[in-house]
Amino acid sequence: MTNQELWQAVLGEMELSISKASFTTWFKNTSIFGISESLIVISVPNIFAKEWLEKKYREQLLLAIQQYNKNITSLSCKISVIDLNTDETQVSETKEQVIDKFSGAKSVTKRKNFNGIIPKKNIYRSNLNKRYTFDSFVVGGNNELAYAACRSIAEAPGQNYNPLFIYGGVGLGKTHLLQSTGNYAGSLNPDIKIRYVSMERFTNELVDAIQKSRAKEFKNDYIDLDILILDDVQFLAGKEKTQEEFFHIFESLYQLGKQIILSSDRAPKSIPTIEDRLRSRFEGGMMADVNKPDLETRIAIINKKLVEKNFSLPENVVEYLATHIYHNVRELEGALNKIIVTFQLRNTVPTIEDVTEMTKDVISINRQKDLTVDKVIRSVGDFYDVKLEEITGKARQKKIVKPRQIVIYFLRQELNLSFPEIGKSLGGRDHSTAIYGYEKITKELENNLLLKDQLKFIKEKFIEY
Ligand code: ADP
Ligand code: MG
Repeated sequence: MTNQELWQAVLGEMELSISKASFTTWFKNTSIFGISESLIVISVPNIFAKEWLEKKYREQLLLAIQQYNKNITSLSCKISVIDLNTDETQVSETKEQVIDKFSGAKSVTKRKNFNGIIPKKNIYRSNLNKRYTFDSFVVGGNNELAYAACRSIAEAPGQNYNPLFIYGGVGLGKTHLLQSTGNYAGSLNPDIKIRYVSMERFTNELVDAIQKSRAKEFKNDYIDLDILILDDVQFLAGKEKTQEEFFHIFESLYQLGKQIILSSDRAPKSIPTIEDRLRSRFEGGMMADVNKPDLETRIAIINKKLVEKNFSLPENVVEYLATHIYHNVRELEGALNKIIVTFQLRNTVPTIEDVTEMTKDVISINRQKDLTVDKVIRSVGDFYDVKLEEITGKARQKKIVKPRQIVIYFLRQELNLSFPEIGKSLGGRDHSTAIYGYEKITKELENNLLLKDQLKFIKEKFIEY
């Protein structure tokens, strides 16, 4: 087990036992700095995290660590001075860099992905993470256009598609493609000046520069680039000052024939409150969307990650994961990593039952994402043998009112709809009816075990609708 895997496992446990907010606050950007016999040294980003981990979480952490390594009996933290990339999506990768740098982990796959040593200077300037390559990207019908555009840009920046605008939902590989483009372009031409930056970070740096009266230097620094890669530009929405500055940088680079690559979680026309002139620039080059991968691509992605991690899973397990986790690749990867870490430790091959148990949370979230008002009404209706029109209709017989209240309960509980929305979905009822129905069922659930079982049963059936 590498230090990184150990830490992932420990983080997994901590995440379950403390609140999400505390977890993010205290454990973000942490990693194992090193282990020497009985001492473990955790690398943390600041003094606050050091104090909390050493004082408040010491016992809990040691207990968790000892499950995997019994020798460790003491713990201390070290503030790492590494300028961690602040982009959320980057956290784990930078962690990997930190770990590699300090612990000298001997993971073969990691070495391979890292292409040897990365000059420190380059990491800061280009913000590129060598983990992302075209080789490790699985091309499918959902992303082939974006992939082809990125490759062609890396080979001939500024010449074909400018700007390139890639858009699509979270966890579908946009950052992976953008980073790979930068890495590949850099490998073809080491002198080229590339920078990857998230729009959030760009904005923060810009604000900082303005405060320090260094806006001009900031701009010059960007105009000097050959390839500018801006991730998550939807962040620009509503930020007028940033839009203004960004527009000028964009124009200058464009005029100079420099390549600009942008990504967003939606198409330019769906980003609210961005200036028209920016929107038309975004749309003026090439636009490529990334979509959810189909089953075959999901299987290919799992298999590729397994090779990278030097681990194997029975075919039926791979298929199970690919069939049930379909909304985004990040989730799929997360579930896979959890399985790998656990079973590497146990040194056994996971069965379908193991995997079903371990992934039930993420799978139920996947199902919920597919849930619609219509599905809820139909499944409740089928169970109590009432028609959809009866549930949304006016009738007040007990036989119909009860299922209607259960629908209300589910719409609130599972779909998080507001009471006015629920009223509207149920044939234009008043929100007070929705509140009443919701409270009635909630109360009844406290001591009616039969009802509880029924609702559980109906919920499990949602997926079939
Ligand atoms: P986005 O930026 O669209 O939110 P990411 O690029 O961060 O998504 O992708 C999330 C995770 O899924 C990353 O670890 C990435 O490597 C992986 N991933 C996404 N799509 C693919 C793919 N087609 N092939 C291999 N890995 C992928
Ligand atoms: Mg991203």
